Amino acid sequence: MTSVMNSEEWRKLEEKFQPGMIAFSLRTAQSEKIYSAAKKILDSSVFEGETDATRKRILKEMVKSAEHAGIALKGEKRERFNAIRAELAKLAMDFSNAVLDATNAFKYEKNGVNYTIDDANYPQTMKECSDREVREVLYRARASRAGDNTPRITKILALKRELAELLGFEDYAALSIDAKSAPSVKAVYDMFDELDSATEKIAEEEKRELESLAGEFLGEGVKAEPWDFAFLAERLREKKYSYSEEELKKYFEVEDVFAGLFKITKFLFGVDVVELKGDDKPSVWHEDVRFFALKENGEDIAWFYADPFVRNGLKRGGAWMNEFGNRNDRLALKPVALMALNFPERDKDGKCYLPFREVETVFHEFGHALQCMLTRVGEEDAAGINLVEWDAVEVASQFMENWCLDGRTGLKVPEDLKKRVLAAKNFRAASFCRRQLALGKTDMDLYTAKTEVDPDAVKRAVFTHFGMPLTDDDRFLCSFTHIFGGGYAAGYYSYKWSEMLDADAFSLFEEKGLYSEEVAISFRKNILEKGGSEHPKELYRRFRGQDATIDALMK
Ligand code: ZN
Repeated sequence: MTSVMNSEEWRKLEEKFQPGMIAFSLRTAQSEKIYSAAKKILDSSVFEGETDATRKRILKEMVKSAEHAGIALKGEKRERFNAIRAELAKLAMDFSNAVLDATNAFKYEKNGVNYTIDDANYPQTMKECSDREVREVLYRARASRAGDNTPRITKILALKRELAELLGFEDYAALSIDAKSAPSVKAVYDMFDELDSATEKIAEEEKRELESLAGEFLGEGVKAEPWDFAFLAERLREKKYSYSEEELKKYFEVEDVFAGLFKITKFLFGVDVVELKGDDKPSVWHEDVRFFALKENGEDIAWFYADPFVRNGLKRGGAWMNEFGNRNDRLALKPVALMALNFPERDKDGKCYLPFREVETVFHEFGHALQCMLTRVGEEDAAGINLVEWDAVEVASQFMENWCLDGRTGLKVPEDLKKRVLAAKNFRAASFCRRQLALGKTDMDLYTAKTEVDPDAVKRAVFTHFGMPLTDDDRFLCSFTHIFGGGYAAGYYSYKWSEMLDADAFSLFEEKGLYSEEVAISFRKNILEKGGSEHPKELYRRFRGQDATIDALMK
């Protein structure tokens, strides 16, 4: 509730209950009784010849997470460990709230226009606003927001280092990777290096190309600054592919996008999506929230909430999928998902035309929701996205993004425009890749540091290496909620890791044809339905017939 309706009342409740929830989850995670019982079963012959690998995996992961939760620690060490965990949870909450508050506190008005720096409006303004002064004000405000998070960052890094040390890991990154599907910290750095050398030269060319437009669009002799790049990139996109985001937008009215998404879902996976209204709809936290059933052969197999529009000050930025409930056969429970988005507000006619980026976002989140809803795993602990390692969880979502422009959505984008959009998909690909590498490597470098470091200096070194522009007053880390307020610490690389898998998965469709029913069914059966019941590498091999390589992503 605090992520979609962050009111005073809900915040107070969260603060009131959070310490108790932490204590409870620590007590179960550190229960000697549960731990030794799980170990006993694993060591016994119970699973000999057992075909159900799911329950074995659940127990194995239970033992591992008990170990990560400090089960082996005794006395003072255990107490210290628990104190650190509680403090980290509080720090993460305060970190996220500081970012939300700073974003909302920003107000700027020029020539009667009010500007904001929230996720819904900022990217668009930076692309379309031709007033350099406005862009500079917004850019600096966003890049330097939540400066009060600086001491929290130092504290979080120190506490996580101590936590890893207590558990006997070399550093926090090693602890993080131990729970993921990537084989080692080194394997992650290897991927960074491979992509680094593959993109370096191309990114330099891309940058030169942008800078060559400075004279035309910024004024004679003006040097492009960080707040100009998004604007220039959009002008270059228009020149090269002769379409603007504005032109493309008119084909993506929210209602049509939802309808198109559900159509392609039906084609690919054979399930219907039906909206429930009136008496069939459960109570919701805001009138904009909608409720849908997923139907197969006339039967409801799962449900989901969709919360589409931005709600400034009350809703977290970005987009995400949450599980309201997972499948649990023992209790006869079916999955319920939430898809939370931050679409721009509707116009006076109640319409909302989405930038293409937002269209990809809704397909993305629905991919997560599908993995939650299509699960065939009856054991809740491995159903849906449960037990799917962080760095494999983006496969289902990023995979769905590939279908935004497919004719079967019924979205009426003219063929010729579609071709230009597809060609533009690789527009500045090297630069975007290097931005993700800069974020991923900063994250890894911070969490592999053995002693206290200056986080800002680490960031500057990495960003400079990848050619990312930074202003002197940049405080990007203070709003890097992924790694300080969420679960992506030493895990931001997961996005690239999953992209490698999703590109490789989609290349099977390219080999066998986009209309290949066989591939779609195999994706549903081996990836979406299996969730966390087996190691992602095994499931992937069954779907693809081989391990994923980086080739498709490079292509
Ligand atoms: Zn995602």
